[in-house]
Amino acid sequence: MEYKDLEVWFVTGAQLLYGGDAVVHVDAHSTEMVKGLNDSGKLPVNVVYKGTANSSEEVSAIFRAANGDTKCVGVITWMHTFSPAKMWIHGLMDYKKPLLHLHTQYNEQIPWSEIDMDFMNLNQSAHGDREFGFITSRLRKPRKVVVGYWKDENTQSKIANWMRVCAGWADSQNMLIIRFGDNMNNVAVTDGDKVEAEIRLGYHVDNAPIANLVPFVEAVTEAEIDTLVSEYERIYDFAADCKKGAEKHQSVREAAAQEIGLRRFLEDKGATAFTTSFNELEGMKQLMGFASQRLMAEGYGFGAEGDWKTAAMTRTMWVMAQGLPGGCSFLEDYVLNFNGAKSSILQSHMLEINPEIAGGKPRIEVHFLGIGDAGVCARLVFQAHEGEGIAATIVDMGNRFRMIVNEVKVIEPKALPKLPVACALWIPQPSLEVGAGAWITAGGTHHSSFSFSLTTEMMEDYAEIADIEMLIIDKDTNIRNFKQDIRNNEVYYMLNKALR
Ligand code: MN
Repeated sequence: MEYKDLEVWFVTGAQLLYGGDAVVHVDAHSTEMVKGLNDSGKLPVNVVYKGTANSSEEVSAIFRAANGDTKCVGVITWMHTFSPAKMWIHGLMDYKKPLLHLHTQYNEQIPWSEIDMDFMNLNQSAHGDREFGFITSRLRKPRKVVVGYWKDENTQSKIANWMRVCAGWADSQNMLIIRFGDNMNNVAVTDGDKVEAEIRLGYHVDNAPIANLVPFVEAVTEAEIDTLVSEYERIYDFAADCKKGAEKHQSVREAAAQEIGLRRFLEDKGATAFTTSFNELEGMKQLMGFASQRLMAEGYGFGAEGDWKTAAMTRTMWVMAQGLPGGCSFLEDYVLNFNGAKSSILQSHMLEINPEIAGGKPRIEVHFLGIGDAGVCARLVFQAHEGEGIAATIVDMGNRFRMIVNEVKVIEPKALPKLPVACALWIPQPSLEVGAGAWITAGGTHHSSFSFSLTTEMMEDYAEIADIEMLIIDKDTNIRNFKQDIRNNEVYYMLNKALR
């Protein structure tokens, strides 16, 4: 999925009460504003102006078309004049994609000496957007409200971020996640209701026996492996015993074959995310850790030990961040480091961390991995660079999905000479005590999807579109209020369906 192939539609609400002249002005203003938004260079997705909507029939026609158009990932509405909101009811009820209600105005400031009744009747979004706000609230319609002058950077950046979320949402609506093996035996938090996930979040989770993948790996030619190993030599360092001619080089070649075979298999299936399991390796020479690292960097979602929810979220976060600096990765909470205000959590996994978040040049190493049937495995070893980021997860609470987002500060770990894996070290905000305490209170996973590029607000927008629960852990979190939020949400989700 590429942003250049996507569109967000812009619809201006009006009515014919003020005469045809007024609508002509509204239309001209809207055309200029949409052009201005596109020309700002701030928006990752092209805005397409769909004209004014002046009646119930026109509103319904636009939203029906938006539902059916595969390029359209969201609609922005703006009420230039007063647009009686009963005419929006049927269209909004039919509409299935993300909605942004832009509360702005064509002119920035009131022309004090010129303003007359005609001007006031034409430029009344302050008034019309409230009417529209009522009907979207009355319909309990999930949407994002952005308030600000359309030329302001802050307004444009809010729209830009929301567009990224729309792209992630559209991608998840036809995401296929392939699982090689089931969830790790008896693990609860990474499991969940796959039927509900498809209803609520759009993606389809499918099983593939690892035996079906083996022929794809075996079919990779020596020449293809040579080419890929040359690429590795250009972009990575090699441990001495992994270089061409050295004793462990063959394991690097086997990992390259896995990378090519796995990519082909996923392309063949049309899958954009996958999970592995260290207990499901029959016919494989090693755990596909290195291949997972490489494919994650290309945008494939990944979850270890059958964790399809994290695989999906990692893919979605990668799509949302396309073109932004930073990178994202599957990560796992491993070891605590108690150190006063700098108390932190070492994030790692057996192997599978995305090299996009590396602080330096990743190094290829090969070591024996004693868990499951993993065997002797190649891997990229590095430490994540410092910076602010977010960790996100989705858990299945039985009657709803709950997204949890924790803002984290990635800091520099010390050297880890005896731990040859990729890792990151972070302080969960506002502190290890409160951050980890809230995460555990919320039932958050040990696996998470991490991003240096996305903001908490973008994840909030995603949860709003998906209409799932959202719990945020940031610098303002305190445990007492957090627990009360959870209690309030329990009631809300119990009553939610009855309200609609
Ligand atoms: Mn794990």
